[in-house]
Amino acid sequence: MMIPYARQSISAEDIEAVVDVLQSDWLTQGPTVERFEAAVSSFCGAQYGVAVCSGTAALHAAMFAIGVGAGDEVIVPAMTFVATANGVLYQGGRPVFADVNSDDLLLDVTQIEALITPNTKAIIAVDYAGQPCDYVALSALAKKHGLVLVADASHSLGASAGEGGRVGALADLTVFSFHPVKPMTTGEGGMVVTDNADYVARLKRFRNHGIDRDSRDRQQSGQFQYAMVDLGFNYRISDIHCALGLSQLPRLGAWIVRRNEIARRYDDGFAELPGITPLTKQAGLIHGYHLYVVRVAQASAGVNRDQLFQLLRQRGIGVNVHYYPVHLQPYYRSALGTAAGLCPRAESASEEILSLPLYPDMSDAEVDEVIASVKDCVADKGVVHGKVCC
Ligand SMILES: *Cc1c(COP(=O)(O)O)cnc(C)c1O
Repeated sequence: MMIPYARQSISAEDIEAVVDVLQSDWLTQGPTVERFEAAVSSFCGAQYGVAVCSGTAALHAAMFAIGVGAGDEVIVPAMTFVATANGVLYQGGRPVFADVNSDDLLLDVTQIEALITPNTKAIIAVDYAGQPCDYVALSALAKKHGLVLVADASHSLGASAGEGGRVGALADLTVFSFHPVKPMTTGEGGMVVTDNADYVARLKRFRNHGIDRDSRDRQQSGQFQYAMVDLGFNYRISDIHCALGLSQLPRLGAWIVRRNEIARRYDDGFAELPGITPLTKQAGLIHGYHLYVVRVAQASAGVNRDQLFQLLRQRGIGVNVHYYPVHLQPYYRSALGTAAGLCPRAESASEEILSLPLYPDMSDAEVDEVIASVKDCVADKGVVHGKVCC
């Protein structure tokens, strides 16, 4: 049995909630979508939520809502999932890659100003691993240059900037993903939350073909006419998915607490271990710990990241790597001409990072098994005459 790197938590109540919707009149475009939008937006302190079929669709919709088009540039971190930058490309814009801090892999705010041009429209900050970025500094920068600040909070629903407020209330628009590995799930799904009613109208049209009213509106008002005013998509999410999300949300707070407990256990477990360095956590915020990421320094660990990955996988430990820098992906190299050297800290981190298993239902015994396995594979036990032995 493999200990997975991530896993959803599904209760009997979750199953019941989904079955209830299956027995109702509305499988999609019904009242459960709105209830889920209201629940998530009020949970995180935003005025509005617009739910869509994935986090990727939410990013694309956010780029549409803020008016990204041909010739526009959007600053994105190099250390993220490809979907963050793809949303910009879908709208004909150009992602401009910014480097990250070495210690926490969050956007390096001090490097952003040099990337701003007259064509820059927005910054997408990514709460890598679940840790909120420095939104105070990012907001000030965005305001100074007239840019829209978008948070890709796919990792950080339920996290908070402490006094500064919860993730969802820290940027102009915030994007969530409800994929099963993320903080809570709808199976597939995503949402944009914002306080801006104009963005909301654009987001709602965009997820429904660019049509100005949805079918329930038309049914309730007894009218058949509709107008397609934008080129939108079918990015709708179903009531079935939203029922699962609504049922999950009340447990999210406890899951974040458990994720933090597991992270502390890992921190303690690796405190004295040479060559294994967890990413840093800033004081005064609540980390979402979507991922627990360590850097593997071959010189002191005796194994490199790729070796440690293989050794742990052989032992049934479901480690993973998040991420290969987006600007080095073959598509980006050929579409934008990006290459190694553009974001050196993201590039060197990508050769050393390893994500260890972390999910709310993980037991202390499983955490200890991961710690023991890592310890077995590194340091003096890991290497005999330069050969990996475990
Ligand atoms: C998961 C993820 C996405 C995409 O979300 P999906 O729901 O899988 O489409 C976007 N950005 C980041 C940082 C993610 O981790």
